[in-house]
Amino acid sequence: MDIIKAQGDLIIDRSGKEYIDFISGIGVSNLGHNLPEIKEAIRRQLDKHAHVMVYGEYEQEVVTEFAHTLLSFFPDRLNAMYPVNSGTEANEAALKLARRVTGRSEIISFQGAYHGNTTGSMSISYNEDRKYPFRPLLPDVRFIALNNSDQLNQITDKTAAVFLETIQGDAGVRIPTVEYMQALLKKCRSTGTLLILDEVQVGMGRTGKFSAFEHFDIVPDVVTLGKALGAGMPIGAVVSQKKYLDQLSRSPELGHITTFGGHPVICASGLAGLRYFKEHRILDQVEEKGRFIENALTQIPGVQLRAFRRKGMMIAVELDNPEQVNQVINACRESGVLLFWFLSLRNGFRIAPPLNISTQNLEKACQIIRRELIRANS
Ligand code: PLP
Repeated sequence: MDIIKAQGDLIIDRSGKEYIDFISGIGVSNLGHNLPEIKEAIRRQLDKHAHVMVYGEYEQEVVTEFAHTLLSFFPDRLNAMYPVNSGTEANEAALKLARRVTGRSEIISFQGAYHGNTTGSMSISYNEDRKYPFRPLLPDVRFIALNNSDQLNQITDKTAAVFLETIQGDAGVRIPTVEYMQALLKKCRSTGTLLILDEVQVGMGRTGKFSAFEHFDIVPDVVTLGKALGAGMPIGAVVSQKKYLDQLSRSPELGHITTFGGHPVICASGLAGLRYFKEHRILDQVEEKGRFIENALTQIPGVQLRAFRRKGMMIAVELDNPEQVNQVINACRESGVLLFWFLSLRNGFRIAPPLNISTQNLEKACQIIRRELIRANS
């Protein structure tokens, strides 16, 4: 596909063909494409200034405003943020933070985890096929199974942090139970272990709450963000308590230097995105639209999906085999609907439309996917 334009919930190729975006650049374009409010904010900031200095050396109004606005979406306990350039960099910074705060090095992660592609993030990700060419990676990392309470006893007073995607994305939208998450937090608190939740993909409203951890009635110690946070521009962030994040600024001094972190133009975009999200009550639409997709795809006469998992508008559809998945994704693209694969779940595909997708395009895309699911099953 040779893309030349994207507008709202549509992506347009060179031939003028329109595709309904049912994947949002994998959870980035939560507000769709080409919003005038975002473009105007970027333009206004460009008229003032772009990069002026390595992040943290000077105060910059738009960055401060962005930080305050972002933190207003979080519980009081999470009262500080540190902006970086991507989801994986946020996870790198969080890994370092866990070592600084606890003085320990062991990290517990999860089977199925995906945290990014830099060395630290890859070390705490699970998919061995993607890791072995790059070994040796970080030592002292173990993996436990999600929703298996018996394995929580592997978290001990040697564990610096438990690192978990609040809802696992690349593993195929794996959702922990409320009981499990509460037991996990309790175990972390009793062993002095930080609970770090990776909300790079699930944050910013994707699951029907601003932060996915709100579904579980818990507040973690650290949250990492990326993807949708910049409203289409590249950014990441670590959100935590000030007393923790302060530790990254001493011994050594400036413990996570990042030249472009907190880039003013990107922060202007993110700030405009957060304001739009609030003003247009985006969250209110998510559950209803997610349920519409669920009803449309799980009630097809003659089609028995192997599995359908959903939280808000984050969806995994499992079929019997990878060939069927390829058939459905390719045929849907031909018919003007964009879906996408998982790296770690070959017999499944993902759905993650812009949260503000129009009802008309939501219905149209579901009709097309239904038709292709019927074909793939015949
Ligand atoms: N964490 C999760 C849960 C992700 O889904 C991703 C990207 O897909 C990352 C981290 C890495 O983010 P980035 O690609 O911005 O480095």
